[in-house]
Amino acid sequence: MKAAVLTAPERIETVDDWPEPVPAPGEVIVEVGGVGLCGTDLAVFHGKRTAPATPWVMGHEGFGRVVSTGADAPDHLVGRQVVVEPNYACLKCADCLTGLTSACPHRAIVGLNSPGVLAERVAVPAPFVHTVPDGLSGADLACAEPYTVARAAVRRSGVTDRDRCLVVGAGAQGLLLCLILSRLGLTPVVSEPHPERLARAVRLGAVADDGRSGFTFVFESSGHAPALRPAVDRADPGATVVLVGLNAERLPLTTDDVVRRQLVLRGSMIYDHPGDFTAALAELPAARPGAVTEARFPLARAQEAFAGAAARAGKTWIDLAGSDHA
Ligand SMILES: [Zn+2]
Ligand SMILES: [Zn+2]
Repeated sequence: MKAAVLTAPERIETVDDWPEPVPAPGEVIVEVGGVGLCGTDLAVFHGKRTAPATPWVMGHEGFGRVVSTGADAPDHLVGRQVVVEPNYACLKCADCLTGLTSACPHRAIVGLNSPGVLAERVAVPAPFVHTVPDGLSGADLACAEPYTVARAAVRRSGVTDRDRCLVVGAGAQGLLLCLILSRLGLTPVVSEPHPERLARAVRLGAVADDGRSGFTFVFESSGHAPALRPAVDRADPGATVVLVGLNAERLPLTTDDVVRRQLVLRGSMIYDHPGDFTAALAELPAARPGAVTEARFPLARAQEAFAGAAARAGKTWIDLAGSDHA
C-alpha cells in the first residue's frame, strides 16, 4: 500500500510498497481519508525532533473509515467514519485512573514514538477511534484532533462568557482558540504579526490587538519564547495565563511577576480520554473547524505539503481519498 515516509530530515517519499497493517487483538483497521499537518509533524520533518527510525510514517491528525477489525474489537465499527485519537494512553496507570490520560507516562504518541497515519491503511486500538457525525467535510475532519486540543485548553482554563480574552498567536491552535472562544459568545483579541493569519482570526470572530490591556484570560498558543513575557504583562491582576504552545527555553518570568499580580499559570497538554474527544466531535457540525485550513495535497505530493506548511497562513492537510468527503 501507499504511505508517506520520512527518509531523512526534510525528505518525505510517497512509497507504494509499505506493508499492510495487521490488527493486533483489540485493534481496528482504518482506511485513511485524510491527515492534517501540525507543528509537531513539522518539527520531525525539519529534524528538530528525531524520528525513532527511518523510513518513518508521518502524521497524527487522521480520519477515515473502519474497514476491518482484529480479534476482540467491536464489529459495529466496520463501515463507520471515524477520527483517530492519536495518543494511546495505557488507561491503567495512576494518571489514567484519575482521568488525566494526557499525563500517562506510557502513552503511545502517533507519529512520534508510534508510527503515524499517513498511509492508506493503519491499525488503531478500538478505544481510540471515535465515530463522527455525517455531513462533515474532509477539512473539518482533518481539524478534529487539533480542535479537540484547543477545546481542552478552553475547558481546563475555566473561562466564562464574562471574561476578556487575549489569544497570542494565530497558527492553527490560535485560530481554533479564536473559533471556540467566539462560539462561547466572547470576542477574543488576537495578537499575531503575520497579516494573513491575523485576517483569518478576524474572520473567525476575533478582533486585532490594539495594545489595550485588561485581560482576565491570556491564551499563549505561539510557543515562541519572546511572545510570552508581553503576553503575561497584558494580563490583569488575578488573571489566568493558559500556556498551550510548547517551548524548551526558560521562561522570562520571576516569581515576583506571578505572586504580586496573583496570576494563575495553567499549562494545557492535548486532551483527556475519552471525554474531550467525544465532546469535541459532537460540536464539529456547528463549529466547522475546517475553516482554519488553507491547502490540500494528495498523498503523492506529501513532500511539497510538508516543505511549504510552515509558511502557509492556514493549516495544510493531505487528502488520501481525493474528494472532499462532504
Ligand atoms: Zn497536531
Ligand atoms: Zn496511563
